Amino acid sequence: MNFETDFTMTIGGKGVAGASSFPVLNPANETVIAQAPDCSREQLDEAVAAARAAFPGWRATPVETRRDLLNAIAGRIFANIEPLRRLLTLEQGKPYADAEFEVGGTGMFVQGTATLNLPEIVNEDSAERKSITRHVPIGVIGAISPWNFPVILAFFKISPALLAGNTIVLKPSPFTPLTTLKIGELLRDLLPPGVLNIVSGGDALGPWITSHPGIDKVAFTGSTQTGRRVMESASSTLKRVTLELGGNDAAIVLPDVDVNKVAPELFWAAFRNNGQICIASKRMYIHKDVYEPLKDAIVDYAKTVKVGDGTEQGTQIGPVQNKQQYARVLDLIADSKKNGHHFLTGGDAVDGPGYFVPVTILDNPPEDSRIVQEEQFGPILPLLKVDSIEEAVAKANASDYGLGGSVWSSDAEKALAIGEMLETGNVWINETQHLSPLAAFAGHKQSGLGVENGEAGLLEYTNVQTISVKR
Ligand code: NAD
Repeated sequence: MNFETDFTMTIGGKGVAGASSFPVLNPANETVIAQAPDCSREQLDEAVAAARAAFPGWRATPVETRRDLLNAIAGRIFANIEPLRRLLTLEQGKPYADAEFEVGGTGMFVQGTATLNLPEIVNEDSAERKSITRHVPIGVIGAISPWNFPVILAFFKISPALLAGNTIVLKPSPFTPLTTLKIGELLRDLLPPGVLNIVSGGDALGPWITSHPGIDKVAFTGSTQTGRRVMESASSTLKRVTLELGGNDAAIVLPDVDVNKVAPELFWAAFRNNGQICIASKRMYIHKDVYEPLKDAIVDYAKTVKVGDGTEQGTQIGPVQNKQQYARVLDLIADSKKNGHHFLTGGDAVDGPGYFVPVTILDNPPEDSRIVQEEQFGPILPLLKVDSIEEAVAKANASDYGLGGSVWSSDAEKALAIGEMLETGNVWINETQHLSPLAAFAGHKQSGLGVENGEAGLLEYTNVQTISVKR
């Protein structure tokens, strides 16, 4: 199998060329890597029909068999880490090590999800009646994934959907469809035809999925703005929705931290994957007593980090993934310049080709500035000085987002008490971004609706059914 050419969709267990095609660019040099299939409306209908046809058989397949197949999927992914990570770096821009972490992590998440169980509740077991509540699959899932972690976020949906007995039609982002399409090809002979369909296309394809009458639920990861459109579109057929959306995570730093220890950790909390993580730390509220030394330590560390082409040895941060996001990050930088914010490092665009932005750190911009209030989703971070931790918590919570947040202190108990005050779905103490296939991941407020991962995430792919038997 050639991993870098001949990209096809997977529909009904077969490789299908698009009705037309669209180019996929390498963000490090803006050259075309490959043409991806552009799914027509009729081809989407075929994928949905294949998923519908496969549903009764898959639902009736014993859960233990579905579990075994998930483990076989993980095995296939592990066995192909090398070519998959290379392809992921080419299309996404992230360094090889990060691409390997994503592909390997995907295998581990699939395995972890395979260990989950669907609970069955006995409501009554009397001489008169037995009543149980169980969880049954929903039907055909339409899954839509973004470009920042295209592979693992696709499997956050595929794994629980399949384990629960659903069939699926998945659409990756048009910026990063290639690795997902190749994984579809890799898995074709493992699953019954139609159980997992992967289609790729342009801007029209997402709305076709969210409004398709043959799809019963939409599982979406992307921006809050698009999430609103998805929910509106899904309402016409009352589809179930799970929405994992944007965030503006705050890190709160207490005055007792060990500056040299936490400086690199805080740096990577913000800049891993070039800041393009929904749960990246996007605002850092640092107590005034430690602000100056910590600011200096973070900036000193930032100057040691290598930004470059992800395929080059030693690169730690790649380019911004696409031209639109690049323009957005540059616009935020321009706004900060216009408003006279103090740049500690970075701030100047790098001459092309490639969507490179230097690591950019701002010194205490005003709380109401765009760079503090908006999700930047790129390599630009505001450090913010606070007089008290109460002030930090109030500012952290004064957001329409509620995805994650972290608290940093030498005293974990004290930090935990502060963390419990955060209005977010995920709270980390002295770390960030730790996720597990066994732990629920959810956004509060406008960061999402519903849950991914853990038993709660698995249940999102089920309908509740109560059965009463009169004795
Ligand atoms: P996006 O919303 O632009 O696109 C996400 C996906 O939706 C893509 O596949 C896109 O093609 C598709 N899409 C676009 N318009 C659509 C429409 N009208 N109907 C249906 N589908 C449509 O997001 P993005 O730029 O790819 O990703 C970045 C965003 O995703 C950030 O806001 C980030 O915080 C968020 N994100 C959230 C999580 C999470 O788990 N909460 C994880 C990763 C990324």
